[in-house]
Amino acid sequence: MASRRVTRKWEVFAGRNRFWCDGRLMTAPHPGVFVLTLALICSTCALHFAFDCPFLAARVSPAVPVAGAALFLFTMSALLRTALSDPGIIPRAAAAEAAALEAGAGAGGGGGGGAGAGEAGRPPPRAREVLVRGRPVKLKYCFTCKMFRPPRASHCSLCDNCVDRFDHHCPWVGNCVGKRNYRYFYTFVVSLSFLAVFVFACAVAHLALEARGAGLGAALRASPASALVAAVCFLSVWSVLGLAGFHTYLASTDQTTNEDIKGSFSTRRGVSNPNPYSRGNACANCWHVLCGPLAPSLIDRRGVFTIDVKDELPASFARVLAPAAVRPGAGGLSASRLRLLHDTTMIDAALDLDEPDPPPHLPHAPHAPHAPTAPHAPHAARAAVAAL
Ligand SMILES: [Zn+2]
Ligand SMILES: [Zn+2]
Repeated sequence: MASRRVTRKWEVFAGRNRFWCDGRLMTAPHPGVFVLTLALICSTCALHFAFDCPFLAARVSPAVPVAGAALFLFTMSALLRTALSDPGIIPRAAAAEAAALEAGAGAGGGGGGGAGAGEAGRPPPRAREVLVRGRPVKLKYCFTCKMFRPPRASHCSLCDNCVDRFDHHCPWVGNCVGKRNYRYFYTFVVSLSFLAVFVFACAVAHLALEARGAGLGAALRASPASALVAAVCFLSVWSVLGLAGFHTYLASTDQTTNEDIKGSFSTRRGVSNPNPYSRGNACANCWHVLCGPLAPSLIDRRGVFTIDVKDELPASFARVLAPAAVRPGAGGLSASRLRLLHDTTMIDAALDLDEPDPPPHLPHAPHAPHAPTAPHAPHAARAAVAAL
């Protein structure tokens, strides 16, 4: 029997990412600027190793090229790891899961403020709220991915994916920066700062030693490459140092660039809005953000694709697919999303914002007598999350 070629999931991936080496590597859809970053770093360092290192190794110390090579390799490995790995893409809802969510939302529409949800011409509820360490955090529905995004996730319009703990889309590294590659991005920015300062210092030292007695003009004529390297480093080092400082601040406060730009945790109208994700001190935040356990990739891009949707869903989700067996609370957020929320965040409970009289701070309140038992029971979502 002729062997049939299997289709891997990256080949039918719904987002716009590009995959390389049979799905082992991935980048944003247009990695052109990333290639420019690579070319800029490699060409500047090539000039450094070709012209400054031999001179300084002979005149100053043989440790100069060794230190330069170590910094260069460290920076490049951090850059490649950032650029070619999964930033934390959240898989889109499978068709059956999305349909169940829509159906569940519609079924619960008969009660209270959810009225009309699922009725003809009106979309089901698209607003939910969860409690993170006692603080309400809104969950937004992604119409492209057909799911409620976990807190801190955002949809990258360039890659067309929701990314967990979305920081920003960085064209320079040719990828989104998110939960799974932020530590490598930070390492890249910091090590690039050291590399730029080191290469700049070497070029200036080379010119200064050449200029001794002969003058700066003679030094420039003797080593024009050093002047070029010094100019490139001088022009670029300020933005790189600024970026390293900014991301050090973000890591020490456990914020993302996205949250900082939107002012998610800034004081508004005199009401403080502290960051619920912060662990209280800068060291603990840095440790968690940069050294905490690395979340596994959720997109299984090398897995074998099958059209059997049941394979795509966790067993617990079967309860949602079978309406008669739906337990209260399983409908609002699918079981897989609830599990994802629970695994990736510090959620205490989930609330439905479309509820008529939402009790915003009662995560463990018993079910209200009027709470519907339909799949979209708003109180039940709380119980479901609390039970996880
Ligand atoms: Zn999305
Ligand atoms: Zn992106």
